[in-house]
Amino acid sequence: MSQIYRVIALQFALAISALCIGSVCAGQQSTAPVISLRYPVEISAEERAFVQALPTLQVSPYQHIPPVSFYDAQTESFQGISVDVFRFIAEHIGLSYHFVVDEGLYVDKLIEEFEQGQFDTLIPVSYNPERAKLGLFTDTYYEGFYALITRKAEQIQISSPEQLKQYRVGVIEKAAAVPYVQSLVPQLKTYAFNDGNTLYEALRANDIDIAVFNQSVFAQDRYRLELFDLEDIYTLYDYPRAYGFLFQNSTDNTRLVDIFNRYIAAIDSSRSVRQHENGEQRLISKYIEQQNQQKLLWLVLLLGAAVLIIVYRAYRSHQRIAAELVRSHQRIVRQHEALQEANRRLEHLSRTDVLTGLSNRRDFDERFNIEFSRHQRSAEPLSVLMVDIDFFKHINDDYGHAVGDVYLQKIAEVLTAMMVRSTDLVARYGGEEFVCLLPETDSDGAVNVAEQLRKAVMVLHAQCADVLPRAITVSVGVATLQGASCNQHQLVKQADTQLYRAKDSGRNCVRSIVLDHSVQCCEPLPLRSST
Ligand code: GH3
Ligand code: MG
Ligand code: MG
Repeated sequence: MSQIYRVIALQFALAISALCIGSVCAGQQSTAPVISLRYPVEISAEERAFVQALPTLQVSPYQHIPPVSFYDAQTESFQGISVDVFRFIAEHIGLSYHFVVDEGLYVDKLIEEFEQGQFDTLIPVSYNPERAKLGLFTDTYYEGFYALITRKAEQIQISSPEQLKQYRVGVIEKAAAVPYVQSLVPQLKTYAFNDGNTLYEALRANDIDIAVFNQSVFAQDRYRLELFDLEDIYTLYDYPRAYGFLFQNSTDNTRLVDIFNRYIAAIDSSRSVRQHENGEQRLISKYIEQQNQQKLLWLVLLLGAAVLIIVYRAYRSHQRIAAELVRSHQRIVRQHEALQEANRRLEHLSRTDVLTGLSNRRDFDERFNIEFSRHQRSAEPLSVLMVDIDFFKHINDDYGHAVGDVYLQKIAEVLTAMMVRSTDLVARYGGEEFVCLLPETDSDGAVNVAEQLRKAVMVLHAQCADVLPRAITVSVGVATLQGASCNQHQLVKQADTQLYRAKDSGRNCVRSIVLDHSVQCCEPLPLRSST
């Protein structure tokens, strides 16, 4: 898992550094002067004063690479050969000018606006006789060319303009080259100008075989519009396009155009031309840069998605494990509770006599130990009753062992009912013998309990004749420890002795003894009896 995170972090770092490098490279611009004068231009002081007195000239440049391209529309910056030449001359002669930003307007529309007088000068404009009627053209400062553009797959080869007539040829209507191309191809098709797209579409739709279009514009459109299925196969050098500046027709502008022409004759614009004609190369770099950035973006998106998937899966797996932990914890808790319950039941069973539900001998011994210790601390009297069923053997013999068991259960119920205090305890001591422990009970109280239980057993048959076939009795031996130095064993033994006395006395009676200071437990004991 940590390996995956390391790889993802590395990919992000690479992507971000590539983005940074790309933006730094894109920000580099050349600042070297691109226009110079081959010889000094003579401007008189009067002319200079005339130029400087002119109101700010409103100049409308439009996108027409390489003469003009929008460098940064937001800051209203332009670049291109026309811009370089115009700026150079204007600054030399002290002409105040302002570039009107009208990005997106095609030359036809701008010419329309020019005709309406919305601005003073239009740049760049290629010369044709129709346009020459609209205003004052300066001399040519740059020549551009038309190219023949074909579908790459056709592999058309042209070695001279005359060969054009073998093909279906298209051109933008009102383009300067229309008359020239028409002279070569009478069946020329013309298309409305729409960012050049109509001509490219006509080529792609096999509507024409060759399009005649501005070479520089196509060079950039190939990358701008991804026209890689089209190619430029021939340059119409026979028909150069002469670029000049078009001024509104006025007396002032006539003088101004004259000054401009003197500069145009003297300037060396070769560096500007080189710089801007390599626009295609710049576009290729920009295109590749954009492609790389797109790839990078996809990479980042894919990595982001991968990270999301990994995080989501980790989260789901964490949730599953957490849920499984909760379930297993609940299982453990349930098992623990069941185990505790089983332990409680086992503990209860280990201390209980199965037949009667009374405490068994083990439970009695433990409780006896506790109560004996308490007696030793408090010196309160402690009584033990030994209860034995009289002639129980006969019951078994006469009615069977099962009936004998019912007797044992019923007598156990009677004994339990006699134990009124929470500290009193009755247990099955063995066979048909029971033992009762009565803490803080003196001899009279213990004998009283013994008598009550003896009597209760006597009437048991009358109460449960359905399950007890005949009456039965018990004999009880009572020993009360009240100051004698005696241990538990001796105390039980004394109760047992009293039980034998009761048996010897004819059964169904109580015999008791008080073990006080006057008594040595190991000596013969004074006797006491009740019916
Ligand atoms: P005594 O009055 O002298 O005590 O006469 P007894 O018949 O009660 O005395 P004995 O000790 O001879 O007989 C006890 C009988 O108790 C013998 C035995 O079969 C019976 N007994 C002991 N435990 C059980 C028991 O769990 N169930 C049944 N049904 N009988 C039992
Ligand atoms: Mg008996
Ligand atoms: Mg017995």
